[in-house]
Amino acid sequence: MSSFQQSGLEIVCRFRYPHEAELARLALEAEGISAWVFDATKGGAKVAVAPADAPRARTALAEDRSHLLADIPEQSLPAHPDEHCPLCGSEEVQAASRPWLGIFGRRRARCGVCAHRWTPR
Ligand SMILES: [Zn+2]
Repeated sequence: MSSFQQSGLEIVCRFRYPHEAELARLALEAEGISAWVFDATKGGAKVAVAPADAPRARTALAEDRSHLLADIPEQSLPAHPDEHCPLCGSEEVQAASRPWLGIFGRRRARCGVCAHRWTPR
């Protein structure tokens, strides 16, 4: 008999890697469901909850929450390394126009704080 059966818990999902199980456990905890990770070191981790919480846990884990990421305003995300001024570190980066190069010129950036100009990678 394994440890989760002895503890009276019910397995609600299995993962190949322990970190995946840990993420599932955290998602369940965020829903107010106590969860435990078992066998995380034996290759393949299981997430278990109290039997009374199992149906709600399965529903919560089956939910597609990718829309939550899409709803995050882009300006609240950290800037890409190319969006920092390499001189002063400011995130006020603008596209620098070089009209004499037209469409053949490489994309250039200009810092809105120190006016430094550079070619992003
Ligand atoms: Zn700058």
